Amino acid sequence: MSTMSSIADDLVQPFEIEPFQLRGRLVRVGPMLDRIIAQHDYPTAVGIMLSEAIVLALALASTLKYDGVFTLQTKGDGPIRLLVADVTTAGAVRGYAQYDAAKLAEITGTGGTTSVPRLLGAGYLAFTVDQGEDTERYQGIVALEGATLAECIHHYFRQSEQIAAGIKVAVDRSADGAWRGGCLLVQKLPDGERSEFLGTREELEDGWRRALILMGSATSQELTDPELEPEDLLFRLFHEDGVRVFRTHSVRAECRCSRERIDRVLRSLPYDERKDLGEDDGSVTVTCQFCNASYRFERDDVAAIASG
Ligand SMILES: [Zn+2]
Repeated sequence: MSTMSSIADDLVQPFEIEPFQLRGRLVRVGPMLDRIIAQHDYPTAVGIMLSEAIVLALALASTLKYDGVFTLQTKGDGPIRLLVADVTTAGAVRGYAQYDAAKLAEITGTGGTTSVPRLLGAGYLAFTVDQGEDTERYQGIVALEGATLAECIHHYFRQSEQIAAGIKVAVDRSADGAWRGGCLLVQKLPDGERSEFLGTREELEDGWRRALILMGSATSQELTDPELEPEDLLFRLFHEDGVRVFRTHSVRAECRCSRERIDRVLRSLPYDERKDLGEDDGSVTVTCQFCNASYRFERDDVAAIASG
């Protein structure tokens, strides 16, 4: 008998492999990912890449302490010009892609591929953490080097000499076509957070290497299966090395656009640009790139903005 509703979905599950001073995140998303992708009519290849960006953003954001918005963004000269995924501290997630349909069709036909060089081309991947006005913006940036987005992030970790990390990403569609995604991230604990290790340095390194191999052994099916408890998967993979799971964080698809925000943006535009947005009847319609919601301002509203 199916008991789908009893199984947790749309979540980030933190864990530690304590004996070897490793920490990790398991990301498991279904309905929220499907909602974000379904708001747009993206070709399969774009849906896959944006889904990967979203699960990676969820994994990375959950390892940072911040109060605001974490954004993962790619820009490149390939068919997919832009990917944006952002995650608030409260777990609200949104994302969108910009792409050239003709260039994309040349490469993919109708199928999907996850090749970064072919789909994104040459460019960069950036993370930012925005904690509001008058706070410092943390930013990390790396060239798009790697066959997949996960590899590009590996490359970032290596280059920035941050904590060593292993990442595995899976994106799949269920029988009814709904998007699902999963991600497993394992990191060495930063020096400051380590407790004293009683074994040898070699034993510690062996534990790390073993964790990477076990992480790699998780199948895409396991990472995205809505019937498999995240905790059960972690125990299946790491039980011999002593895995400990913590409280899960739930995440949801939620945009932050509103009529007030769009109004503010319109007010900030120079007169000429605002005029260019207008229809023949003097109204202005602005569509949110993230969630596709449309906001229409009638001629009188626009006049009020112009004089305001
Ligand atoms: Zn929106």
